[in-house]
Amino acid sequence: MRTRFVNLRIPAGGDEVQEVEMVVDDGRFEEILPAGSETAAGGELWVNLRGALVLPGAIDGHVHFDDPGFTHREDFASGTAAAAAGGVTCVVDMPCTSLPPVTDTEALASKVRAIQTKAHVDFMLWGGVSGNAMADDGWRDHLVDLVESGVAAIKVYCLSGMESFTGLDYGRIRQVLAAAEELGIPVGVHAEDPTIVRELGGEIRRRGGNGPADYAASRPTLAEVAAVRELIEASRETGGRVHIVHLSSGAALDLVTKARHDGVSITAETCPHFLHFTMDDLIRQGSLLKTAPVVKSSEDRERLWRGVANREISFVTTDHAPGQWPEEKSTGSIWTDYGGVPGVETLLPYLYSEGVSAGRITLEQLVKLTAAHPARFFGVDHRKGAILEGYDADFVVFDETTRWKVAGSDLHNLNRYTPFEGHEFTGRVRATYLRGQAVFERKSDGRELFAPAGCGRWIQRGME
Ligand SMILES: [Zn+2]
Repeated sequence: MRTRFVNLRIPAGGDEVQEVEMVVDDGRFEEILPAGSETAAGGELWVNLRGALVLPGAIDGHVHFDDPGFTHREDFASGTAAAAAGGVTCVVDMPCTSLPPVTDTEALASKVRAIQTKAHVDFMLWGGVSGNAMADDGWRDHLVDLVESGVAAIKVYCLSGMESFTGLDYGRIRQVLAAAEELGIPVGVHAEDPTIVRELGGEIRRRGGNGPADYAASRPTLAEVAAVRELIEASRETGGRVHIVHLSSGAALDLVTKARHDGVSITAETCPHFLHFTMDDLIRQGSLLKTAPVVKSSEDRERLWRGVANREISFVTTDHAPGQWPEEKSTGSIWTDYGGVPGVETLLPYLYSEGVSAGRITLEQLVKLTAAHPARFFGVDHRKGAILEGYDADFVVFDETTRWKVAGSDLHNLNRYTPFEGHEFTGRVRATYLRGQAVFERKSDGRELFAPAGCGRWIQRGME
């Protein structure tokens, strides 16, 4: 049935908004009209959004939903429910934290089978190339097959903590970049130099260092800078498109920006935890805020915000990667505690509150960072990431003045902790629509409604 959403505002450039009506039919925006365009209701369902701000559904380009294989950490049903509650209508799941890792089409197919009936929102899937995968001479064919099957992008690690998805040295990363360049797909890289991190980590552990500051000292800015420097050269030589995932330091951002100005095909994303927290928070929160890379200084934080505001950083992702809580975050040692934080549910409210509401970015920039730019990067900007006629009717009804306090126990992912515990945000998701259907709704009396799992679909790169 055609649905006409009335009494709403959408972003219209800068911090401007425009009062419109949206007509949705068959899951797509059929018409976006000035408010008051309707003449008489007939054969349509009307939904009055009571003056709310409507944003394009967010795309979280970097999540670890761990399914199948590590579902004690996250599960596709709980992860996508959290996404829906946070206004994220499409998640892009990493290939490395499920079993078997997505390094060939068989693994891809088995993953799709395992997760598609659980999805509350749409999903795209990263493919990957690991050290394990490159031990097989057929890795290039596997890469071609993955790209032809519609993976979102290709992920590799300079340094990985996972036995089932090991990292690659710079020479092998060059090989992957050269292959990916021919296939026209970007390569996302975890950029920390393995030699620096291993040497420093070994030294610190030998002298008994076992606190958050010791862990951070083993993964200094220098490790990220050294890896980014190598990757810039690798991209320059091969022409392969490098995307630095979860960029954490201002110095590495300086390098990325300079390289791009020099014509190197390189982009970067960062995450809310790097925009918000510093070493002081890591020392206070301990393993709760343990991530790789680690949070840096307040100067880095300010530099990253500047990069977010001026487009040096293409988009913001969460690297949503909770461990089993509290077990895996309290093993007795910072070295063995699980590294990763949840984030998919707080991405949009965080960026609205600390970005738009705090005056660091405009509403238009928020939409680019959370929707338009990731849609373009993952090759779906002809159907997702904007409120435009013909596009999938994925949108968020957002109450931009609501103040609320973040509590891990209120989140919807499996392991309910958050480094943002107790923080107050301005702006909250009231409802999330996927292809015109409400997949999440927060009622004024506090009730929360979710559509049944299985409404989310697998979206392939470039698919019509
Ligand atoms: Zn990650």
